[in-house]
Order: sequence, then C-alpha cells, then structure tokens
Amino acid sequence: MSASCDFHEPYFGANYPDACCIDGFLWDLDSCDVPGGSLSSGGDVPCPQCQHASWLETFQDEVEMEGWEAFEKKAARSAPTFKAVRHQQPEDHAKMAVWWLKGWDDAQKHEEEQSFKRWEASKQPDWQSTPPAVSGERGMA
Ligand SMILES: [Zn+2]
Repeated sequence: MSASCDFHEPYFGANYPDACCIDGFLWDLDSCDVPGGSLSSGGDVPCPQCQHASWLETFQDEVEMEGWEAFEKKAARSAPTFKAVRHQQPEDHAKMAVWWLKGWDDAQKHEEEQSFKRWEASKQPDWQSTPPAVSGERGMA
C-alpha cells in the first residue's frame, strides 16, 4: 500500500485540517517545526479515507469493550448503542454492531464461566462437610 490520497481534515485535535495522508497513514501537519520541513508525528493511524477498513479496525477493541460493559450493566443484547466516530461511513455501523455483540457475548460467556466456577467451589465444602465416621463411639454403647 503506497497510495496517498487528498485527505486533509481535522483529526489530531485541532479544529482546522491538521492531518494529511501519506502512504495511507495520517500525519500531523502541526508536527513540522520548519515551514516546508518534514513531519515528525504520525504514521500510526490508517487513513479513514483511502484505508477505511484498516482505520475502522482500530476501533474494534473499544467497541467490543462497550458491548462487554453493556452486558455488565444488564443492557439488552439487541440494542447496540455505541458512540459514533468521526469519519464513520453508514455501512460501518453494521461492522461495529458485530464487534459490539461479540463483546456482549464474550461478557456473557465470561459470566457463565465465573458462575460455573462459583458453583464448583460451592460444592467443595458440602462434600468435605460430610462427617467422617467416628470410630471411637462404636464401642461406647
Ligand atoms: Zn488516504
């Protein structure tokens, strides 16, 4: 991938276009000390315009975590309500919904595993508390 595009929008926190695309990654235009000099900060974030799929994947963990947290808050599985991100395209919603639901499902699986472990742990004292036969009492009668 060595294609640059004309992406030139606010991205790194400025309210003016502070990002440009170089070889499919965003660079911070404010990281240039000398006018016309080279940029010192950037290259980590895929370009939302020409590397859109890669760019969207940078949000996957975050969206899965939102799904996980929604489960813990007893939110319904059917209503993903993750926050929208800038540069998001309409079809991204479906992809993010899949991630959100995965997070929710993982949380549920985790919860099931935890309650199974608790159940297993709770069996232990019962089994141990069965009184062993006291041999000394037999001859007392
Ligand atoms: Zn680009």
